[in-house]
Amino acid sequence: MDVAIVGGGPAGISAAIWCRRLGLNPTIYERESRLGGQLQQISLPIVDLPGQLEISASQVLHGLIAHAERMSIPISLQSRVIGWSGTRVTLQDGRTISADRVIYAPGLRNRCLDIPGQEWISDASTGEILDAGRSPILVVGGGDRALEAACRLAEAELQVVLVHWRKEFSARGQFQDRLRSLPVDILREAQVTAISQDGHGYQVRISTDSHHVRTVSVADILVRIGMEPDIEPGFAIGVPQETVPSHPRHDLLVAGDATLPPAYRSLVAAYASGMQAAKFLVMNE
Ligand SMILES: Cc1cc2nc3c(=O)[nH]c(=O)nc-3n(C[C@H](O)[C@H](O)[C@H](O)COP(=O)(O)OP(=O)(O)OC[C@H]3O[C@@H](n4cnc5c(N)ncnc54)[C@H](O)[C@@H]3O)c2cc1C
Repeated sequence: MDVAIVGGGPAGISAAIWCRRLGLNPTIYERESRLGGQLQQISLPIVDLPGQLEISASQVLHGLIAHAERMSIPISLQSRVIGWSGTRVTLQDGRTISADRVIYAPGLRNRCLDIPGQEWISDASTGEILDAGRSPILVVGGGDRALEAACRLAEAELQVVLVHWRKEFSARGQFQDRLRSLPVDILREAQVTAISQDGHGYQVRISTDSHHVRTVSVADILVRIGMEPDIEPGFAIGVPQETVPSHPRHDLLVAGDATLPPAYRSLVAAYASGMQAAKFLVMNE
């Protein structure tokens, strides 16, 4: 049985490994030029992967890639799948691929600000912004990911403005402690209300609870206000609303973070959900 696996993050790779073990023929289609999904964004050591006291995200990814290679799993990078119908998946570049079954493991995307000018915001990662070295950078949010991004940029001596709509941050204490020691310009109880682009970067309007409006010029913007399932419109019909474990509908199996409640999103849950999708295929052949 040919299985098209959409998404080369932990869930997709786990699904491919389990498919292979179960005698199926998986191929992974990954939209980016490298595998890993959110593993590419994790900069702190991972301490909650059972059996690994402390491991870096790149070590985890290295192990997943080695495992997929050992099992000769075909991997198609820069292959964004935009839709599926029965036994065919369609790629953005126009290719159509036939597969007996599809496992859809697209993970999450950053939630957007719903404001005028949001279309100007690039979806650059913290690493890409660090590589570009331009500053100042506006970071929006108050959770772990926002504070981690603000800290990493400030530690690299980039100028950072952090905007959070509440008074208190929701990030873990370790991030708040790290932030305290850094020269980050923090605006609390403040909201970004509009963005426009100028020759060098962005003009950002920020309004505070005290009804002051401030405009800042920044080189780039990182919005870290949460994540949501990264469902392509062409897959929307096949993705059930409440879904643990992966839930078959229209022959489409959904795996990983995209199908997990926020509290359960993790590497172990992604691995397990990839395994469940593969076993479901065999049990319902
Ligand atoms: C900063 C950070 C820290 C974290 N720390 C931990 C931790 O310490 N411990 C832990 O257990 N978990 C941690 N996580 C969570 C963990 O990384 C995720 O739960 C896990 O990566 C989910 O795997 P996934 O495969 O479901 O999704 P993802 O990792 O998001 O992978 C999905 C992949 O699918 C691809 N894709 C999407 N749409 C398409 C398409 N249409 N066509 C082709 N490809 C597509 C994406 O490009 C991506 O590569 C962390 C996450 C982040 C962001």
